[in-house]
Amino acid sequence: MMDAIMGAVGGVRAAIDAVRGINAKLTAVEIAEVKQVLLERLGEAQIALGDARENLQTARDQLRTLEAEVVRLKDWSAEAENYALADTGRGAVAYLPKGVEPSPKSGAWLCPHCFADFKKSHLIPEDRGSYWVLRCHPCKFEIITNGRKLDQKGR
Ligand SMILES: [Zn+2]
Repeated sequence: MMDAIMGAVGGVRAAIDAVRGINAKLTAVEIAEVKQVLLERLGEAQIALGDARENLQTARDQLRTLEAEVVRLKDWSAEAENYALADTGRGAVAYLPKGVEPSPKSGAWLCPHCFADFKKSHLIPEDRGSYWVLRCHPCKFEIITNGRKLDQKGR
């Protein structure tokens, strides 16, 4: 953007220099030449200012996007405070709302991979016979739990 602005300033400066070179003794041909130079320099300045305006708009758009991202991340940080990692039964961990007792059949588990990507995605419990799997459908992550053992412990 600074290049575009400097280009515009240079174009205007060149036009001013061309005007300063005009004196009363110019012939009609010389006046036409000066007029041509002025138009060219002003045209260059106009193009450079258009580029600068476009770059400024892009920078403003990027700023708005970044401000929205900051708000989203602040909101996420506040929301994430409500969750803690908990053992799913075989040492693998996933997020649960604080105060919720771990159970492989609970629908409250959140995928740790999606959580790290600032998204809440519930792990869906699936019975696989001798054990339960907690499955994240968006990212396909699975955690094998020993659900029955956890159930017997009453956890
Ligand atoms: Zn996931």
